[in-house]
Amino acid sequence: MMSAQIIDGKAVSAKIRGGLKAQAQELINNGIIPGLATIRVGEDPASKLYLKLKHKACSEVGVYSEDHVLAEDTGEKEVIAQIKKINQDANIHGILLQLPLPKPLDSRDILAEIDPRKDVDGITPTNLGRLVNGSKGFIPATPKGVLRLLDEYGIELEAKKATVIGRSVIVGKPLYLLLLSRNATVTMCHSRTRDVTEHTKDADILVSAVGSPGLVTADMVKEGGVVVDVGTTKTESGLAGDVDFEHVKEKAAYITPVPGGVGPMTISMLVENTVLAAQNSAGF
Ligand code: NAP
Repeated sequence: MMSAQIIDGKAVSAKIRGGLKAQAQELINNGIIPGLATIRVGEDPASKLYLKLKHKACSEVGVYSEDHVLAEDTGEKEVIAQIKKINQDANIHGILLQLPLPKPLDSRDILAEIDPRKDVDGITPTNLGRLVNGSKGFIPATPKGVLRLLDEYGIELEAKKATVIGRSVIVGKPLYLLLLSRNATVTMCHSRTRDVTEHTKDADILVSAVGSPGLVTADMVKEGGVVVDVGTTKTESGLAGDVDFEHVKEKAAYITPVPGGVGPMTISMLVENTVLAAQNSAGF
């Protein structure tokens, strides 16, 4: 039996960033410097690392970016005041509130204050609503990146059976809607699903977005299926996905590695959404 083709998120990402650089340059030639503002509340080390990668990707592509850091004990009103200030800043086209927020902040109330035209993470109620009703809006970066990877590898979605494990607002749920919009028949699994394997073993496309290393084993995967691993968990031996990569790759036709799969795509899609927001603001 042949081993799966490895879906190379790093290579696809590099290609996308090259294209974005040209688009950013075109904006700059027209007097518009695309700009992203990120907001971090508190000192979560993972959030700090993700933001570092996001700012690095922006500078690589020629997108201006600035980082707003608020203290761990910042109240909801102050976070919202910061968002409202950036909503008004004509030099900023995209706003990213890095999640998770420290307790007791409720991200839903706060996210709702981001101007939907600047919501490059696609998670304001307005953009999520657009995703539900199929109108144009910003699509959350990670699910958008997953779809782009599948498209790049020519993986057909029409009428395929797709199963998504994990139902978060930033990954699982929007991914469900995106796959559905491409005419896949989609099943959603979560922590209360009685028998996850029952829903994964026949899936032509299986996406795991949980954050539990080793969750997806070879017996759960369809022979010749496509396996996308969104999970990232920091372990002693490095970053781990949800999928038992070594065994699953002997059974699947395509598989994404961790790292080097979905991760780089998430960051590229955020930059892409920022460039898009700048183009929209300029009426391109
Ligand atoms: P999350 O909000 O923690 O959601 C995890 C989901 O997994 C929940 O829906 C949960 O179910 C479900 N779940 C937990 N245990 C399960 C089990 N044993 N079987 C089936 N489902 C189970 O996570 P998230 O923010 O979506 O992130 C998920 C993972 O993706 C994390 O490892 C995160 O670091 C990673 N991530 C990676 C990227 C990237 O760019 N590569 C981007 C975003 C996130 P309930 O809803 O029932 O609790």
